[in-house]
Amino acid sequence: MKRIALFPGSFDPFTIGHEEIVRRGLSLFDKIIIAIGKNSTKQTMHSVDKRISIIKKVFADEPRVEVDSYEGLTINYCKEVNASYLLRGLRTAADFEYERAIAQMNKKLDYSVESVFLLTAPEHTPVCSTIVRDIFNHEGDISEFLPTNITMEDLK
Ligand code: ADP
Repeated sequence: MKRIALFPGSFDPFTIGHEEIVRRGLSLFDKIIIAIGKNSTKQTMHSVDKRISIIKKVFADEPRVEVDSYEGLTINYCKEVNASYLLRGLRTAADFEYERAIAQMNKKLDYSVESVFLLTAPEHTPVCSTIVRDIFNHEGDISEFLPTNITMEDLK
């Protein structure tokens, strides 16, 4: 059976930290679906379509990565796409506490889906979409926080 993992998030924008988690995840899984959870109450920098096209460009060289979006419960979407694993990244103790609660609740909702956590590379610990977005909105240089083949032009 193929090992399919879902990597859910907002990815607004997709950073070098996200990219690294997915690339490392590819040694554990046969396929990774990166899925943008639609949240109509959240003000975003980029539309879902724009975020999808940026992430597709990041993994243009990787046929085992798919990019999609979904509405509703993440655990229901796992079932829809046959994903038995939820991949998440951990940067700090705060991430751990947040992720622990979500993973344990997901376990209650669907026991068959396993959450798998990868620790971020030390140099990516401070990289977070909210701060990267803030710097970008104030015309700061965020190129070093973006995936290797993405430039600031791509975000405009
Ligand atoms: P969410 O809205 O669910 O927090 P994000 O796009 O911010 O979505 O994050 C998606 C996943 O990527 C989460 O598991 C988060 O912890 C992880 N992540 C975010 N930034 C990094 C990073 N710099 N290094 C490793 N993992 C990260």
